[in-house]
Amino acid sequence: MTKDILSYRIKNIKPSPTIAVTSKARELKEKGKDIIGLGAGEPDFDSPEHIKNAAISAIKQGKTKYTAVDGISALKEAIKNKFKNDNNLEYSLEEISVGTGGKQVLYNVFQATLNKDDEVIIPAPYWVSYPDMVMLADGKPVILSTKPENNFKIDLIDLEKSINPKTKWIILNSPSNPTGTCYDRYEIERIAEVLEKYSHVNIISDDIYEKILYSDKSYYTIAQFSSNLKNRTLTVNGVSKAFSMTGWRIGYAGGPSSIIKAMAKIQSQSTSNPTSISQYAALEALTSSQDFIIKNCEVFKVRRNLITEIINNIDGLDCNTPEGAFYIFPSINGILGKKSDKGNIIKDSTSFSEFLLDQAGVAVVPGIAFGMEGHFRISYATSEEVLIEAGKRIAEACKKIY
Ligand code: PLP
Repeated sequence: MTKDILSYRIKNIKPSPTIAVTSKARELKEKGKDIIGLGAGEPDFDSPEHIKNAAISAIKQGKTKYTAVDGISALKEAIKNKFKNDNNLEYSLEEISVGTGGKQVLYNVFQATLNKDDEVIIPAPYWVSYPDMVMLADGKPVILSTKPENNFKIDLIDLEKSINPKTKWIILNSPSNPTGTCYDRYEIERIAEVLEKYSHVNIISDDIYEKILYSDKSYYTIAQFSSNLKNRTLTVNGVSKAFSMTGWRIGYAGGPSSIIKAMAKIQSQSTSNPTSISQYAALEALTSSQDFIIKNCEVFKVRRNLITEIINNIDGLDCNTPEGAFYIFPSINGILGKKSDKGNIIKDSTSFSEFLLDQAGVAVVPGIAFGMEGHFRISYATSEEVLIEAGKRIAEACKKIY
């Protein structure tokens, strides 16, 4: 290869830190180390049997060919009904796009809409991929910081300050990865009122954790607020988290047909259709009983309560009790600046995460990966036994910090 073969694009972006932590934990495990991984962003439940069977039958029926680029009509129809039934949103089939995970759908929209230096407001802490996806499309991420004492929710005054004529998108993500924070209807409506005033700002509502909720409040997404906002909102969702189907790679979005068409154009020149078999599996997921999701949420809720209590009982750590997703995002403010018994200063979230991996054999993701120092993320999509053992190890390790 020639010396300067790599593009400026690739030099600007970093690999996904959550995938990096998971790989590091896997590597150490393979070397025989006793590692507990709390880094992965996926449910530990298996994909349900009826969904697997739908995929097997798709294979047997020869549904193994290329399909329409952004999804088969039957799946789009099911998604249309999902939006109508769950969110009271009316989309036609031309307003729906299916991709290889929510990730590809988001990637497509930025590729299809961003020009150089167009700004995308990303509330922090954020899902690790948003800023890099924006940069890959030559856009400029504008980070809108939130505060733990405000439960990591957007401050409306800060929101208005972050909008300028170059703002093309704002990303909303509720329940959030990494904090699990959920906006209720009232809060979304206040954000919507602000955004109504800025007709050049479009909205991505990343609702991928919509179904993983622990409160009785019903879910509300911003496109429901008004037709004016719906016309500039892309509502993103997928089957990965709710249906324990991360490996199947099916995500989707509803939005104005002009954007959906442009996204399909990008997809047609990159991956083409998402896997035909997975589309039939997703069709089954969306059109059959979803009672198992409620059961899964009950299990997640027990784990959330358990891990929150464990963490809050450790000196120097402190965390909120989130209302959704399967993450907690504890603060390490009580530890920062102190020394471990090996003499290393815990100066930031990265050194704390390295310390935990080293001293406790527990893999977590440093807060800086999500755009917020002084925190770390635990994924509690693992068994209670594992969480208890991880908690014990973290507590023991933290006793070695003075
Ligand atoms: N959005 C958020 C907030 C996520 O956490 C993830 C996955 O971790 C995704 C989107 C993409 O999920 P998938 O590509 O599996 O649909």
